[in-house]
Amino acid sequence: MKTLILGAGYAGLAVATKLKPTPGLDVTMLERNPYHTFETRLHEAAAHNTKVTLPLAPLLKGTGVQMENLTVEAVDLDKKEVTTKEGKTFTYDTLVVGLGSVTNFYRIPGLAENATELKELKDADEIFAFVNRAFDAAYTGSRDIVVGGAGLTGVELVTELAQRNELLSKERGLPPFSIYLVEAGPKILPVLDDALRGKAQATLDSYGIQTLIGHRITQATESTVTVQTADGQSRELQAGKIIWTGGIQARDIVKGERLQKGPGNRIVVDATLRVPEYPEVFVVGDMGLGLNQDGKPVPTTAQHAGQQGRLTGKNLIRLATGEELKPYEPNTLGEFVSLGGLMAVGWMKLPWNQKLAMTGGLAHVMKRASEWRWRSSIS
Ligand SMILES: Cc1cc2nc3c(=O)[nH]c(=O)nc-3n(C[C@H](O)[C@H](O)[C@H](O)COP(=O)(O)OP(=O)(O)OC[C@H]3O[C@@H](n4cnc5c(N)ncnc54)[C@H](O)[C@@H]3O)c2cc1C
Repeated sequence: MKTLILGAGYAGLAVATKLKPTPGLDVTMLERNPYHTFETRLHEAAAHNTKVTLPLAPLLKGTGVQMENLTVEAVDLDKKEVTTKEGKTFTYDTLVVGLGSVTNFYRIPGLAENATELKELKDADEIFAFVNRAFDAAYTGSRDIVVGGAGLTGVELVTELAQRNELLSKERGLPPFSIYLVEAGPKILPVLDDALRGKAQATLDSYGIQTLIGHRITQATESTVTVQTADGQSRELQAGKIIWTGGIQARDIVKGERLQKGPGNRIVVDATLRVPEYPEVFVVGDMGLGLNQDGKPVPTTAQHAGQQGRLTGKNLIRLATGEELKPYEPNTLGEFVSLGGLMAVGWMKLPWNQKLAMTGGLAHVMKRASEWRWRSSIS
């Protein structure tokens, strides 16, 4: 069974590392980078240049998976063909798609052209370089940072940046720059309940971060962001760096006449994460519209991508050995948001669907524990 895995993110890598050499199973993985990125820690790399990658080759040892360092350009489900930017074409019997998501700029004028995203290592490097430049005595122009989107990524990023800002300000004798967090919706961190959100907001306030809730970004230029309130009041913010974390959508790379897509461009999958119209194709992670026990889409998170990947890895072996495939049963173990340094807020799932809310150091340890679990699951 000639099998292709596309992408070595949380989903694709979980598939590959669940495999072992199996008669009849011939697996190749296509990934543009020679490393796996801990996307959930990119905000730390952006602020502190933390190492957030792991080389892939050692992780794939003993799995029987061949890695090809290539960029997928097109996936044609009707022809069963995958083509790459480098001019290679692959055919398959079974395909696993795990190419993740891309930033959605919602066609806000000037935003895609002028904002940095936080999706890849190069984005984090760009933000880190700006912060250093802003503390160079010779730097001219606005030093302020405007971050659009107060979800998990935006909040984790501004709190880390605030810590770096404070440190560099002390070390280099220059005043700190201003950090704006702009959110069109009525609240920050909609995934959290009001009490935890209140703690998170208090932390943002203690860092001096200027949170603009209910402010829609209507336009961006190289050095300005225009924001508007629901009652039509407009304001222009000067920015040395604009960062957009306000939305994602599934990567639009897979084509098929009978392919169905749902909200966020995510590909409709069945209970075994296969595309109903193309049962030889599995879609895992942010690209797939995996459903929970209530028939609702699971959130696009590393936690769910990893679970889907591990299940699919085991299902590929079942497929090769003629066993019945197991269905996807998502399990949300908790949700933690880091707020810079050792501060975090979140909740952990308890038996009987109860939630245990946590703040401070304990929540930080829980957040780290989920990252360690991921590391140990792939090594
Ligand atoms: C800053 C930040 C913080 C986050 N924090 C959390 C968190 O705390 N908890 C949580 O659960 N989730 C978090 N998330 C979300 C989580 O990272 C994603 O849901 C998860 O990465 C999705 O996994 P995936 O495998 O679908 O995609 P990805 O992990 O993005 O993997 C996609 C892979 O495909 C590769 N690829 C893409 N295009 C191509 C191509 N054309 N050719 C070849 N290879 C390609 C990429 O290089 C990548 O390796 C965070 C995200 C960000 C950005």
